[in-house]
Amino acid sequence: MSFDLLGLRAELLSAVAAQGYTTPTPIQSKTIPVILEGRDVLAGAQTGTGKTAAFTLPMLQLLSRSPQETRGRLPRALVLTPTRELAAQVHESVRTYGVNMRLKSTVVFGGVGINPQIEHLRRGVDILVATPGRLLDHAGQGTVNLSRVEILVLDEADRMLDMGFIHDIKRILKLLPMKRQNLLFSATYSDEVKRLADGLLHNPEAIEVARRNTAAETISQVVHPVGHGRKRELLSHLIKKGDWRQVLVFTRTKHGANRLSTQLESDGINATAIHGNKSQAARTRALADFKSGVVRILVATDIAARGLDIDSLPHVVNYDLPNVPEDYVHRIGRTGRAGANGMALSLVSSEEKDLLRDIQRVLGRNIPVEEIPGFKHEAAQAPGSANREPERRPERHLDRPRRTNSFSRQPSRRRNG
Ligand code: AMP
Repeated sequence: MSFDLLGLRAELLSAVAAQGYTTPTPIQSKTIPVILEGRDVLAGAQTGTGKTAAFTLPMLQLLSRSPQETRGRLPRALVLTPTRELAAQVHESVRTYGVNMRLKSTVVFGGVGINPQIEHLRRGVDILVATPGRLLDHAGQGTVNLSRVEILVLDEADRMLDMGFIHDIKRILKLLPMKRQNLLFSATYSDEVKRLADGLLHNPEAIEVARRNTAAETISQVVHPVGHGRKRELLSHLIKKGDWRQVLVFTRTKHGANRLSTQLESDGINATAIHGNKSQAARTRALADFKSGVVRILVATDIAARGLDIDSLPHVVNYDLPNVPEDYVHRIGRTGRAGANGMALSLVSSEEKDLLRDIQRVLGRNIPVEEIPGFKHEAAQAPGSANREPERRPERHLDRPRRTNSFSRQPSRRRNG
């Protein structure tokens, strides 16, 4: 399959070629022709599948068909994303793929000054990329007019719902014309996503591409059991021993991300944290430093990491297991992209056994367990925590790391009863 067969115009094909893409990804070859026909689309695709180009390319083409006098005024395409990072990246894609077209675009998100955004909107746009909260701020102030929107894209709709944006989305929908084309992209189909899709889409074409990396052929996954209090020590040990150069580490909380990056720094490992409390400028800088290798370790929360365009990371570490099993799949999807081999490691304390069990259920298989000598649970019991349920494990030889699935055989205790 070649891009030439998708019905895209020459300006877009040359922009795609300039990116070095030779073949459309599956989501692109399935979605682009349908969007070009003007139909609504319900697309199941994760980050990394090429979904951004899948909606951006045909969107640009549809917008370029309109008469000159309607252009560059009020937004005719609106792309909603859950996070600022994703908004910035989608906007970057709009600019990249639209480089040969005379369409204007801008992006609005919170955490940065509103005035420059107002100025951009005032000068006129064709494509507006936005996070829901800031878009509503603009709507409230009358600095955006959505009455001319022809195409609506909800990118990572599942995330938007997870993040509690449903009411914002509903408010935004009321500001749009009834007649429009709707494109909904989501990595997962919860009942909530289905409800949203049912209310939004008219006779949609449902397009699903294989979930990336669920089979995880290119990712080796391992669980390292460790006492909660010794995770940092183990992580430093693994980074130094393996001489890892680029590691994305996930923590559950912003506070945990900050604390860990400071601790790693004090261990002599260049690290930085990225999360929602940081300014946009700080986040952009952290990402750039990480990509260029100035910073070895990027510590992130799930929400902050969402939409980060970092390809083929050699190592992803789950410092804390995510509460939502699907997040595990998203996290490890950061490694092993584009056929490169990647390693996803999880540092799992005995308190996280139930979370691990739930993740393994979603994966449909058990993750091999490998104890790192000197870091097993017993050794990790902090003084005074002796009344915690001890984990009894047989001694193992240092030269014979054993891979077991002993975690999954523990009698399970349901969390929250
Ligand atoms: P996305 O799923 O939109 O986040 O895209 C993931 C990555 O794939 C981005 O870095 C894109 O630049 C890249 N990409 C998108 N389409 C193609 C393609 N047809 N061939 C190669 N790379 C692509």
